[in-house]
Amino acid sequence: MAQRVSAADGGNKKTSRVRVAVRLRPYMSKQDEKDEGPCVRGLDSQNLEIINWRNAMETVKYHFDVFHGEQTTQQEVFLSSVKPILPHILNGQNASVFAYGPTGAGKTHTMLGNPQQPGVIPRAVREVFNLVKAKEEGEGWDYSIGMSYLEIYNEKVLDLLSPSSQDLPIREDKDKNILIPGLTHTTISSFSDFDKHFVPASLNRTTASTKLNQRSSRSHAILLIKVVRTQRAISHRQQTGKLYLVDLAGSEDNRRTGNQGIRLKESGAINLSLFTLSKVVDSLNSGTAIRVPYRDSKLTRLLQDSLGGSAHSVMITNIAPEYIYYFDTFSALNFAAKSKLIVNKPFTRETVAVPVVPVKRAREDHGAGGSGVE
Ligand code: ADP
Ligand code: MG
Repeated sequence: MAQRVSAADGGNKKTSRVRVAVRLRPYMSKQDEKDEGPCVRGLDSQNLEIINWRNAMETVKYHFDVFHGEQTTQQEVFLSSVKPILPHILNGQNASVFAYGPTGAGKTHTMLGNPQQPGVIPRAVREVFNLVKAKEEGEGWDYSIGMSYLEIYNEKVLDLLSPSSQDLPIREDKDKNILIPGLTHTTISSFSDFDKHFVPASLNRTTASTKLNQRSSRSHAILLIKVVRTQRAISHRQQTGKLYLVDLAGSEDNRRTGNQGIRLKESGAINLSLFTLSKVVDSLNSGTAIRVPYRDSKLTRLLQDSLGGSAHSVMITNIAPEYIYYFDTFSALNFAAKSKLIVNKPFTRETVAVPVVPVKRAREDHGAGGSGVE
């Protein structure tokens, strides 16, 4: 069964947790806005604080597995949060890395980056090729690396390597492996081979985005790197390891934006999958025997064999320091951390203005323990 995470399940208990990292991007003040300074800041390599909007003399403190401050380089994020899990996919285990957070907080920068500052995806793919190269001598296994690239948009699974394809089904085989019949799977022999397929597919997605209301921030982009190894001995044993690299849809409160029509439908789908993801991460991290609701959304169904169980998962929650992101930051932090601490301490030594936001923007789960907006 999929429920491999009960507290009694000692063997898997340690590995089934989802490691949670938070990355704060640098402050980007715009010329036409007054410079209010940041509303969130790091304390050390695991803790950060955000001003409490109910009381500017208080801050709310959060603790995570890792906190990456605004100075953190792409290389550091990769080394600490991603590189350690990659060797497992050469041994037939699964792994997933996903970037969560509001639109504009740095998910795509973290996952994709740019030619000067490449992100997790190019670094991880290079590393997988390096690991395979280092292995090939003498150990008796032949390795083959392949890729698929897909998007979940409005609860539809779309093949980005074959853009004209329709919604694809998600199936499970008798060994509980998740598969997508009909999804393009391309063997790649080098990093440049990967790039040749990945870059045009990524561009496809970006072009569609400008036509379709920033679709790229409203869909989940999922890159799958699959490593199959076959023993050269007569037995020809075969093991498959999968790595999912996911740039999630923006986590901002979609109900707040007054969406209608197609955007309302998108919002429902985004809320469903991110809400289900949060329930899945919660039940994995709580270590209790509660049902892990993988089947409640396409995203979690797809990740079912690569999230929890013996898989290795990392969630990088991206946040932005500007006040305009305040409530989205608060809700992203509450998604990522299940405990927080209110501290009686002013955020800065100067007087800090409480952000002026319409009452209807405040949601109960954004709050830090009180009720209502005064
Ligand atoms: P998202 O994908 O979450 O919507 P982006 O990755 O597109 O956000 O980031 C928004 C903007 O902020 C982009 O211009 C990006 O280059 C910049 N940015 C994000 N994170 C960083 C960072 N750590 N350092 C420098 N610039 C960043
Ligand atoms: Mg993005």
